[in-house]
Formats: sequence, C-alpha cells, structure tokens
Amino acid sequence: MAVQLDYYDVLQVDRSATQSDIATAYRKLAIKYHPDKNPGDEEAIERFKQASEAFEVLHDAEKRARYDRYGHAGVNGQSAGSGHFSDVEDIFSAFGDIFGDLFGGGGRGRGRRVRKGRDVRCDVSLTLQEAAQGVRKTVHFQRHEPCQTCSGSGAAKGSKRETCSYCGGHGQVVQQAGIVRVQTTCPACKGEGSSVSTPCPACRGSGQKLKKVEAEVEIPAGVDEGMQVRITGQGEPSPSGGPPGDCYCVVSVLPHELFEREGQHLICRVPITYSQAVLGCTLEVPTLGGPGEVKVPPGTASGTVFRLRGQGMPDPRVVGLGDLLVQVNIEVPQSVTSEEEALLRQLADLEHKNVAPERKSFFEKLKEYFTDDASE
Ligand SMILES: [Zn+2]
Ligand SMILES: [Zn+2]
Repeated sequence: MAVQLDYYDVLQVDRSATQSDIATAYRKLAIKYHPDKNPGDEEAIERFKQASEAFEVLHDAEKRARYDRYGHAGVNGQSAGSGHFSDVEDIFSAFGDIFGDLFGGGGRGRGRRVRKGRDVRCDVSLTLQEAAQGVRKTVHFQRHEPCQTCSGSGAAKGSKRETCSYCGGHGQVVQQAGIVRVQTTCPACKGEGSSVSTPCPACRGSGQKLKKVEAEVEIPAGVDEGMQVRITGQGEPSPSGGPPGDCYCVVSVLPHELFEREGQHLICRVPITYSQAVLGCTLEVPTLGGPGEVKVPPGTASGTVFRLRGQGMPDPRVVGLGDLLVQVNIEVPQSVTSEEEALLRQLADLEHKNVAPERKSFFEKLKEYFTDDASE
C-alpha cells in the first residue's frame, strides 16, 4: 500500500482554498503531469493519479468535510484511497468534464471507457393552451432492453458467455512499436470483452431486444415548436455498463384558430367595422385566460395594434410572460343592406365637402408629386 499524501499538499493549496482554487490547482497539475505529455514517465503518471484522487475528494464539499475531520480514514472505501484510480482512463471517465477542451477531447477518447447509452427521441404534440400552462404527457418510443430469454447474456440456454481469448476480456488490444503505443478495439469481440459460442435464438446473440416503452414527461410551461424536453435515463442502455442514454421529446405545438405565436408574444387579429374604427368601441377579445377587453379609441386606423401586457406565453428559459398583441383590421363588407347603402351614399356625399385630414394630406402629396414631375 502506497503512502497516503495529504490531499492539500498534493494539490499545493491551503486548507482554506475555495472550490475554484482547487479546480485551478488541479487543472495546472493535470496539464503538467498529463500522460500524453509525459509518455512512459511512470512518476508523472503517479503524480497525475495522486492529483486526481486529491481533487476527487476536495472538490466535493461533503467528502472534503469528511476528509478535513477524519483524514484519509474518512474517505477511504467511499471512493478515494490509495490505488483508487487503477487506470488513467478511469480518471478521464470520472473527470472528463473538468478537462473539457483542455486536451482537445483527446484524453477521453482512448482506451476502454464507460460510455453512456445512446439517446432516443420521440414526438409530443401539444395544444397552445397546454404549451402555455405546462402539462404532463404520456409518450411512446422504442429502446433496447435486456433479452428476457437469455437475461441479456446473448448466450443460448446451456451455453455461456465466455471471456474473449484474443484480448483477455479487455475489449481493447494494444500494439506497441518502439515508443508508439496504439490501442484499438478488439477485432474478435468488437470491444465487448466476451463472446458467445451459441447465440441466443431470441435476440441472435445481442442480448437485447427492441421494446416499446411508455413514459411520462413533464412539459414545462412555455415550450415552443421544436424544443426538446429530456427524460433522463430513459434512452438506450450503455454498451459498457455505464449510465443509460436519455430520451428527448421533440415538441410540436398545434396551430390555434385564434392566436398566432411569435416567441413569447401572441397575436390575435380582430376584424372591426368602419364605424367602430371611426367612433371607437369596446371590443371583446379572447385571451388564454378567457374573455378580455380592448378599448378602441375613436379614429383608430386599420392595422393598429393594442398590447395586453402579460397575456402572452411564458418562456421556460426566462421569467415573466409575453404580451397579447391585438391587431384590429377594418373589414369591408362584401354586401350591404339597402338601408346601409342609403346611409353610405349620404356619407359619400358629405365626404366631398368634408375631406378627412389623412386624405387631405394624401391629395396634397399627390398634387406636389405631379407638380414636381412637371417642373423637371
Ligand atoms: Zn437473448
Ligand atoms: Zn476481445
């Protein structure tokens, strides 16, 4: 058993170091002693492992508290301890995230590593009302599950899954030529580490069968077309004993007959008559929460937009609600009654004498336009 060094000494930080100090210190050491930078240097690899072990304990508030109180005894057997990271690859699977693009991802792609299962996707369609309020939905999709006939082993009854003799069960083979070491997936077992001599007839030796799955998904309020809601851990199983993938539910929102959506805002187009526009009126308008009202002042132009604040959609990524934009459009009747026609003719007669300001300026502009044209 190796001597256990003090984790703070290993990372060269004070006992009062903050989480970010610890991460910075670890990153610095990890770069310095990274195996890719020190090929064949056993001491560097040892330092790299020590630093990783120290980081694993100290970056976790709970483990750090235990370590501070009880020393190595407080964290041994839990996760850390001498020889915890038997393999540099284990470090990459454990702390891949902190390396991030530090090593250009190169550190993670090597060797036998624990891979997450693949993600699956399914579709979920919602009404606008459901999208606005959030809803719990049942979704259906397919994923692989262990074959029940062979309990996932892939071997037929009476036969067994056997450790691959080509790679000794590692799933990887290493070829060494001088200082160059190339690690590849075992060609005999395709990285599985074991193989079956008589495959299970139900799953043809794969150990898995495609299953229809029903799951519940909590759709947050405000989702929009094309957004994806994740159901953690409902994807494909991991091929190497890691966590399963996730299921992504792709949202589609059904068109609404009254509202158009533009991000967080809703648009509602309401037809009004010429006389309502001229004289003003109180319009009853639909909102997601029930009937609402818009006061249309006298002399409102066609196309005017009235904003009802906070009557739009929520957005799952931001706080607050969008607005409802009510656009009024003057509708010209296709036909009128004889009584209406008589009144309109009377109105037309009056308009010859009293030209509206809007029209006056239009005619003035028209006159100027022709005058300018003539003077050229
Ligand atoms: Zn089977
Ligand atoms: Zn093999």
